[in-house]
Amino acid sequence: MRNLMQKFAIFMQGRYGTDKLNNCLFVLFLVLWFVNIFVFAPIPTLIIDAFEIAIIVITVFRSLSRNISKRSAENRAFMPVYNAVAGWFKLTYKKIRDRKEYRYLKCPICKAQLRVRNVKGKHRVHCPKCGSEFDKKI
Ligand SMILES: [Zn+2]
Repeated sequence: MRNLMQKFAIFMQGRYGTDKLNNCLFVLFLVLWFVNIFVFAPIPTLIIDAFEIAIIVITVFRSLSRNISKRSAENRAFMPVYNAVAGWFKLTYKKIRDRKEYRYLKCPICKAQLRVRNVKGKHRVHCPKCGSEFDKKI
């Protein structure tokens, strides 16, 4: 087993490996695979299968590629999209987790997310990012 791992490590030397884009492509593959379980019509199933195969081919190609600078550039181009989606999920998780104690507001000037205590009444909210103040009724 150790010999096999050494052979794999030698095989992967100089190759790109994995990154966020590959991980997200794999998650997309799993989602498509799961969706495909519930699709019974033959033509849509074939289309989803084709997407799944394309995703796996791209993921394996990127992992084994020796053109590291190009794969890194692809990952850098993908990261803003990933950060936007991951940020939305993190904020939504926080909103659900803190729903009894806090209320999340958006600053009307700089659009920053602000967290205020969930107390009924009119509040004067101060944005620490841009320094503006606004009134909000909860
Ligand atoms: Zn602000």
